[in-house]
Amino acid sequence: MPSPITNQPSAAPDLTSYDLLAPQLSGGKDSAVMMAVFMDAARAAGVDDRVISYHSSLGVLEWPPVVFDGVRYPGESELAGLQSAAFGVPADRHVEVTRTMPGPDGTRMPHSLLTEIAAYGRFPRKGSPYCRKAAKEGVVSSAWTPMVSRLTRELGRPVRILKVLGLRSDEGADRKKRPAFRTVQANSARIVDEWLPVKDWTTDAVKEWHAGAPVPYCWTYDSVPGAGDWLGSSRCSCSLCVFASRRDLLLTIGRRPRLANLYAEVEQARGDSFRPGLADHRPDPARRTLRGTRPRHRLPGRRTGVHRPAGPGPPSAPARAPQETGAGPRHRPRAVRRLHRTHDHARRSLLKGILLMMTTTQRLLDLAADASGSHDADLMLLLHEASELYQQGFEDLRRTVAARFTGVPSRSLVAAVTAAGLPCDASQDRDELLLVLALAEWEMTPAAMAYSQLAEDAARRGVSLIPEE
Ligand code: SF4
Repeated sequence: MPSPITNQPSAAPDLTSYDLLAPQLSGGKDSAVMMAVFMDAARAAGVDDRVISYHSSLGVLEWPPVVFDGVRYPGESELAGLQSAAFGVPADRHVEVTRTMPGPDGTRMPHSLLTEIAAYGRFPRKGSPYCRKAAKEGVVSSAWTPMVSRLTRELGRPVRILKVLGLRSDEGADRKKRPAFRTVQANSARIVDEWLPVKDWTTDAVKEWHAGAPVPYCWTYDSVPGAGDWLGSSRCSCSLCVFASRRDLLLTIGRRPRLANLYAEVEQARGDSFRPGLADHRPDPARRTLRGTRPRHRLPGRRTGVHRPAGPGPPSAPARAPQETGAGPRHRPRAVRRLHRTHDHARRSLLKGILLMMTTTQRLLDLAADASGSHDADLMLLLHEASELYQQGFEDLRRTVAARFTGVPSRSLVAAVTAAGLPCDASQDRDELLLVLALAEWEMTPAAMAYSQLAEDAARRGVSLIPEE
């Protein structure tokens, strides 16, 4: 194990070979120690001026700031900024990004991980941890796009980026297996390497380092804010993490009951469990009963586990008392009946679109999960099916995006593409702009990410749809 005193990093790459050095700070205890080790290395190599630190804000899912006994304790976003500043990165070189989606008028709307889960109807699981890319790595990667476009033109070659993360082997088997250094993306625009400089640090060493650190650690690690006993949450990041230990989850439910109830709403609406078996620990007994007794409806002809979202239309809508629904459709005036028919039609179309997307996403997530235990011809079959679903999912989304921008002036469309950080000009035709926009949106979906993960995993094991030359 590298000594926390010497700050010796794991498998140090040649930092001078990169155009951008990009540490990603979650604001947690490991980010701080990673930043200390990494900045020592960057300064020693004389390239600390190439550092831009990033924090992908998780919005309401992050541990927020709190005031306890009259003392204010910072939340995760603030801690990420403090970590960057404490190790010498100027304020204008620390970037906080958050996931957004383009609205109909071209402005960006926040799109948190929980919104994503609610939209796609399935919580992340072992084997399909799409949340990590959707909420963090993918968001930062998108933030690089404008800089990559500019630098690729200026340099006449792909931009070389070093992504630096605070992941450690102690955190779990998957992290232990992850190499301390690897190339994670290589195309004509960018080559992205990933480095985990504190991979071999033990949890005890990290805590020991924090005793003399120039930045505070998040209050949630303690039994009460400021206690300094490390008897609270063992991890930071999303307050409610699907992969957290049972102890951490129960602690979070106690500390953030309203957030826990929000997750319970999503579970209820989409018929998928955050963590099977945890339902009995919801903070609100009424909700506990609801979760336990409300029926889950299977869609006819669909795979087990795909459930019709609560909402329009029988048979999935919970039964309502007549006084709640008012008079039935037979008793409505004709104009109102017409209006209801139109709304019902629109709702059915919307529902169909959501279900199509849910099914594609779910199947791709299942395939990605199955791929880890498949080899050779079996893996190739999975890859073929996933590729078809990928194309189909993209085509569905392209149509949805086109419908969303129907009637929107071309200049607003150009603004939407530009706001998404994609290069474009007013001379490009409308279809091309819609395609670019849909692709950017598609690549951030769990379905597309699951496919990328599957394809990358298969390629590493020598299985690819592209024949070797
Ligand atoms: S903290 Fe947990 S839920 Fe949040 S992105 Fe990471 S793995 Fe997913």
